[in-house]
Amino acid sequence: MRAAVVRRFGEPLVIEDRPIPNPGPGQITVRMQASGLCHTDIHAANGDWPVKPTPPFVPGHEGVGTVHAVGSGVASVSVGETVAVPWLGYACGECEYCLAGWETLCLKQQNTGYSVDGCYAEYFLAEAAFAARVPAGVNVFDAAPLTCAGVTTYKAVKVGNVRPTDLVAISGIGGLGHLALQYAKIAGGTVAAIDITDEKLQLAKELGADYVIDARAENPAVALRALGGADVAIGLAVDDKSFATAYGGLRRGGRLVLVALPAAGTLSIPVFDTVLNGNSVIGSIVGTRADLADVFALHALGRTKVIYETRDLGSVNASIGDVLHGRAKARIVLQP
Ligand code: NAD
Ligand code: ZN
Ligand code: ZN
Repeated sequence: MRAAVVRRFGEPLVIEDRPIPNPGPGQITVRMQASGLCHTDIHAANGDWPVKPTPPFVPGHEGVGTVHAVGSGVASVSVGETVAVPWLGYACGECEYCLAGWETLCLKQQNTGYSVDGCYAEYFLAEAAFAARVPAGVNVFDAAPLTCAGVTTYKAVKVGNVRPTDLVAISGIGGLGHLALQYAKIAGGTVAAIDITDEKLQLAKELGADYVIDARAENPAVALRALGGADVAIGLAVDDKSFATAYGGLRRGGRLVLVALPAAGTLSIPVFDTVLNGNSVIGSIVGTRADLADVFALHALGRTKVIYETRDLGSVNASIGDVLHGRAKARIVLQP
């Protein structure tokens, strides 16, 4: 089978011929049909973050396909079913975080396409308990971006506690942002979308943004304050300074939710203003299996729209270049 492999950080991925993996106890082998290209995969391939994967590895954590084989003890899914394999590839189910509904904070977690091989391959392994069943009525190309971009931003909207009277700033209308915008609207918020390309600003309008802010032409902090200030700002742009401007656009009591993970990202905020204004800064990491089930259910009800283009797995390096240069649609979905 073909797999796209990171052999060295910062170098193009190598398309390799590998044996189809056999599932161990509790595992399944999935035949890939659609595999979303999340910006996290680019960070992984570049070794951008303090905790690094170990090359060689296969990135990808928006993997959707049919169950090809099941290992011993697997009862939750059967051969032929369509499943989605997210970033949270495994959690222990026993620690204080898992028991409290915060499996995404589990210290024993495995991450698909990072600590274990991921979905940029014709076949890939998954822990059956963490593979989500894709409901009928959700096609595989929509399901792939929902598996990370969807669940992550659905969770960020929940963590930000978006209420119907809130002005919600969505900073970065890429793979994550175009879905964040829709979840903020579903929660009842009024949305101000911020980006730096004409195509993404246009897309935000088409998806129902109430305001669009071009961060090339105006300071988003000033623009948001002119609207009364954001109750919630969700940081999805891979650019440190976008967090600072989103923070600067909060109203009193406002909440900044950090989601994007720029290499060596830092945010410096004034203590005085944060205290006197009662503002919060919150980190948000992907979502749980229950969040992903909600995301699929909303999509099956026709309440979200996924914007993507499909490309061959072999185009992965060119596709990464296009994401980095703002030339791609909201999401690129790779096909075997
Ligand atoms: P993407 O490249 O598809 O989207 C980024 C968007 O930000 C693009 O539309 C780009 O034009 C825009 N942008 C760039 N600079 C900007 C600026 N200064 N102001 C406003 N917009 C700007 O990336 P993505 O796949 O949506 O991922 C975004 C980030 O989220 C990545 O860092 C990724 O690793 C991270 N991520 C985090 C989690 C989590 O759980 N916290 C999950 C998935 C992805
Ligand atoms: Zn992702
Ligand atoms: Zn745990």
